[in-house]
Amino acid sequence: MDALLSKFVFYVGGDICVKLGLELEKLGDKEITDQELAEKLGEDINTTRKNLYKLLDYNLVTYRRTRDKKNGWIIFYFKANFEGYEGILVERNQKQIENWKTLLEYEKSNMWYSCDAGCTRVTFDKATEMDFRCPQCESLLNFRDNNQRINDLLGKIQMAEKENDEIRVLRKKVVKKKPKSKSSKATEKAIADNSID
Ligand SMILES: [Zn+2]
Repeated sequence: MDALLSKFVFYVGGDICVKLGLELEKLGDKEITDQELAEKLGEDINTTRKNLYKLLDYNLVTYRRTRDKKNGWIIFYFKANFEGYEGILVERNQKQIENWKTLLEYEKSNMWYSCDAGCTRVTFDKATEMDFRCPQCESLLNFRDNNQRINDLLGKIQMAEKENDEIRVLRKKVVKKKPKSKSSKATEKAIADNSID
């Protein structure tokens, strides 16, 4: 798994999913049962399954089920499905970016009030309805500057957009692999020609 894929898999299910991903990657196109994976990882079968389902949710693995002829039990065979994961990642980032932008607009277009304890945080309209009293601790609701929240959201949006840009560059490189080898041959030839001179 490359750095980006590891990061994605970690996001999906933390360290254990990364371990699963690495095991599945080693097998390439070969299948493995959840039981065998659990043994390899030294995890119990339920934890292993739970995390395989997390990967399945993001289409990062595929599975096949068959019935054991001897005892009639259902066996699940899993394998890695990492190809095209960049597309899933871009889509997820895009959804988050949209959510954060909506939140950002809401933060920007309202004045915010809260009590000192922080149990209530509301817009000006809501604060008026509450007579500027926190319903929980009953202390006064004061105007709060929300620059920090705005900056946090802007930071998150920027990071996700940067990541998507990087993924798009990465994808272009994958697509361009073939013509690139041609041009590198041309470069080699040019170098060779030059060295003769
Ligand atoms: Zn309060």
